[in-house]
Amino acid sequence: MLLSVIVIFLISIGIKITADGHRYLGSFIGIKKATESYVATKVEEWVQDIKDISTAASSETQLAHVGFYFDAILENKCEEFNPDSQSILKAKKECKAMKTKMEEDRKFHLLNTSSASLRRQIALLSEKGASAWLSTLPLKNCGFVLSKQQFQDGLRLRYNIPLVGVSLECACGKSNSINHALICKLGGYTHLRHNHLRDTLFNLLDVVFKDVVKEPQLLPVTNEHLPRGTTLKQDARLDISCRGFYSALDKTFIDVRVLHPNSQSNLEKPLLSMYRCHEEEKKTKYLQRIIQVEKANFSPFVMSTTGGIAPEATAFLKKLAQKLSAKLNRSYPNIMGYLRRKLRFELLKTTLMAVRGFRRNSNV
Ligand SMILES: [Zn+2]
Repeated sequence: MLLSVIVIFLISIGIKITADGHRYLGSFIGIKKATESYVATKVEEWVQDIKDISTAASSETQLAHVGFYFDAILENKCEEFNPDSQSILKAKKECKAMKTKMEEDRKFHLLNTSSASLRRQIALLSEKGASAWLSTLPLKNCGFVLSKQQFQDGLRLRYNIPLVGVSLECACGKSNSINHALICKLGGYTHLRHNHLRDTLFNLLDVVFKDVVKEPQLLPVTNEHLPRGTTLKQDARLDISCRGFYSALDKTFIDVRVLHPNSQSNLEKPLLSMYRCHEEEKKTKYLQRIIQVEKANFSPFVMSTTGGIAPEATAFLKKLAQKLSAKLNRSYPNIMGYLRRKLRFELLKTTLMAVRGFRRNSNV
């Protein structure tokens, strides 16, 4: 009698009563049949989601990929929004540690059983920012949109898979490949890649610094004693200069380089040595001239075609992110994430142009 009264009361205030079970803290507690039914429904929903994403992928490849990525993230985040007891938090932490350990073991095994070239490819793809384009929403205003062909080509470049529909022979007469297309001078794509990165960096600096100049001419060398290797050209120019980067009103010169890590001259070098080598080349050529003649600072800005950022460029970006964060009143991680994405996308677009772009041999 008392039970009936309680049941009627609970129903009257809108509480559903079930004998089968109910979802609780991201899981399901109840009888076996109801649990199986709950899981089956979830699997069905998930299968339908995958089918929908696959259909969309044929025309909106980038959007479908990012949608799938965010769907996976949201699944995880949703669980975090539920009320958590300490024991559940502890269990989650342990699960995460186990997952990380398994992934590290798998990576260790993969690295130990793969060829040197595959190991290098994995190292390149694991560099910070190199994969940023895969998890970025296709926002047109930010320039983060890729066509379906660009997105698919980007994946082919990433996994070193030959491109479809590209001639086996380059117009320069050499055998064509992704590696060749990224170093071939014909067509001007290597210049375009450099200039576009310079312009992107220029636009970012222009938001926050004064007196930002593209291709500034250096002061002529007179009686200064400059070390061997320093360029003495009277009409020498660097890529960008600006004021206030390291200290108020002081001038800083920046010189940009995009290297291809799989070119003959870089192939044998470990990644850090490769970046350092290119930074040193720039510094040998310009640093002392900038310090002694211009009384200014110098920063080489080196990136790789695979999206890696050299150590001095990374330090430069961190400083730029601090300044932008203060100026725009946005969080530092937010700005730093944007900078990595922006540079990665602009570089990727020019890289993709080089592998598909039209080339004509003027001698023919
Ligand atoms: Zn060529």
